[in-house]
Amino acid sequence: MCLLCSRDGGAVSRRHVFGAASALGLMLGGGARAAGPNAPGPNAIPPDEALARLQEGHARYLANAPMRQDPAAGRARLATAQHPIAAFISCADSRVVPDRIFDQAPGSLFVVRVAGNYVTRDGLASLEYGVAVLGIPLLVVLGHSNCGAVAATLRVLQEDAKLPGYLPALAEAMRPGVARAIAQQPEDLTTAATVENVRHGMEVLGSASTLLTASVKAGRVKVAGAVYDIASGGVRMV
Ligand SMILES: [Zn+2]
Repeated sequence: MCLLCSRDGGAVSRRHVFGAASALGLMLGGGARAAGPNAPGPNAIPPDEALARLQEGHARYLANAPMRQDPAAGRARLATAQHPIAAFISCADSRVVPDRIFDQAPGSLFVVRVAGNYVTRDGLASLEYGVAVLGIPLLVVLGHSNCGAVAATLRVLQEDAKLPGYLPALAEAMRPGVARAIAQQPEDLTTAATVENVRHGMEVLGSASTLLTASVKAGRVKVAGAVYDIASGGVRMV
């Protein structure tokens, strides 16, 4: 599986990007901004401001002082529009819940989850929708400690372990980042593999989609990476 060579290359003009946004909006209908797919919403903020809001939310999470939420109060507003400030490629691990880790309300985070938090074509399509139609300014690849997918890929690469079912595809997708960590011969290989897998995901997000690349180059979108420590609850940026 090669995401980088399976996508078309070259730059995409602003017109093409917004043309794609309109097409996506027409195809997918509800969930886009209430005033039309290209109308700026309250999430029309610089990427760094979106990141700052995540960091503030994470500080609340660490302090065990989450913001007070009234789900019923916001339900009617969310029924007609969503304005997420960030999209995530997160591991499917049940202990890793971005909305809680960053203390964000429903409608704030657009989350794609897959074991091993690697970037799939389907994930890219979701993020293209998130950026082009919903106007999301920040993309985050979120790895975590004690990741079973990282451990499995290390076993495949180091011990030639044979995984059952569709799992070999997972290990193949994670191979670039994990192999890079192995080559570094770090003291803590599991942590290094987790970090390098996140870095590889960031590289793919920055290069595999002409639509996302155009938004990043224009400064409308930023790609970030982070690793969540399950034991401490802390997040460190990559
Ligand atoms: Zn995981």
